[in-house]
Amino acid sequence: MNVLLIGSGGREHALAWKLAQSARLGKLFAAPGNPGIARHAELVAMDVADHEAVIGFCRRQQIGLVVIGPEAPLVAGLADDLRAAGVPVFGPGRAAAQLEGSKGFTKDLCANAGIPTAGYVRAEHAEDGLARLAPFGLPVVIKADGLAAGKGVVIASTREEAEQAIRAADGPMVIEEFLDGEEASLFALSDGTTVVPFGSAQDHKRVGDGDVGPNTGGMGAYSPARVLTPALERQAMREIVEPTVKAMAEAGTPFVGVLYAGLMLTPTGPKLIEYNARFGDPECQVLMPRLESDLLELLLACAEGKLEGADVRFSDRVALTVVMAARGYPGTPETGGEIDDIDDAEAAGTIVFQAGTKEQDGRLVASGGRVLAVTAEGPTVRWAQHAAYTAVDRIRFPSGFCRRDIGWREVARETK
Ligand code: ATP
Repeated sequence: MNVLLIGSGGREHALAWKLAQSARLGKLFAAPGNPGIARHAELVAMDVADHEAVIGFCRRQQIGLVVIGPEAPLVAGLADDLRAAGVPVFGPGRAAAQLEGSKGFTKDLCANAGIPTAGYVRAEHAEDGLARLAPFGLPVVIKADGLAAGKGVVIASTREEAEQAIRAADGPMVIEEFLDGEEASLFALSDGTTVVPFGSAQDHKRVGDGDVGPNTGGMGAYSPARVLTPALERQAMREIVEPTVKAMAEAGTPFVGVLYAGLMLTPTGPKLIEYNARFGDPECQVLMPRLESDLLELLLACAEGKLEGADVRFSDRVALTVVMAARGYPGTPETGGEIDDIDDAEAAGTIVFQAGTKEQDGRLVASGGRVLAVTAEGPTVRWAQHAAYTAVDRIRFPSGFCRRDIGWREVARETK
């Protein structure tokens, strides 16, 4: 079967790497892809915002499945248009992608379905927000509605800070109770009615060692998240993920794709912080190496509504990924820096997923903020961490940097 993968990041490199292992795969295409993805797929120069062009390509190349990696094409309704044209697609339609695209939508769904999450109010504008702040204790969380890539969230520890954040939120917002606990991500595959757990992970959002400095898209991750015990995972599936998929189906907007639940593990059980409607980046880079089942079979089963009874198996090993970013990130990254010796780093079985890279005059150079995700496996986090950093140190990328402590929390627990 021919497959078209949409996207160009480290997440899509990990998906391409795993799809390429499927016995059912005919030809893999990627649009737009990157030099790492090109090792597994034929790159297609196509504007994915032009849905007619994507549909035309699928017809010409007899594409049996389209896999959409990033959120933007989902919110733009690419999955809807492909489905309407009869092309099987892994990824939710525009209405179901609101689980990620609108915080207010998700909070209302949780309230209606009795899903555990932080108490909240929605406000349309600043004046409205200021009027609704009074009942909340401190700290209090202010979130702009809509996609803000983590930058629309303020955790205010004083009233003044809260009022300032409300005034700064330019438009609709959600004000919510602060949840205390450790965060973990749970992934689940859904075909619209059947939903199955698909691994867990924890990531490091801050740019600096010790989890300090500005927020990023993610500087590293590991899987599984041991704090999300099998019992807590079952509870989160039963109380959060399953009722969500049911509510979406009942609303006539079934969720087909991967539901990524950001959870807070509170003393009273897991609570939903947010949903994403796609795989995490870099979480995908630690899920794929642990997946033992055939990824193509699973994604196709989601697209065709045949997920029930699917074979989902992950290895017991730990995977850990270290993101190498270009100097300046998460501000303006220094692009054009040369990258060498990836093969050397991969010699010991480590995988170097590429994100912001491009070929220039036959050399690999940095073209974005997050550039590489160096992923290793091992029986423990400590082991995987050591292997990943050994590989990082073999890569020549003078204008890059990485955190040196990815997995620290788990390593501390392991050594206790
Ligand atoms: P991203 O998609 O980048 O994770 P986002 O804009 O969708 O960010 P959220 O995930 O809702 O925003 O929040 C970002 C972070 O803020 C969370 O990962 C969590 O650390 C913190 N946070 C959000 N809501 C709460 C809450 N109610 N209590 C405590 N911390 C919270």
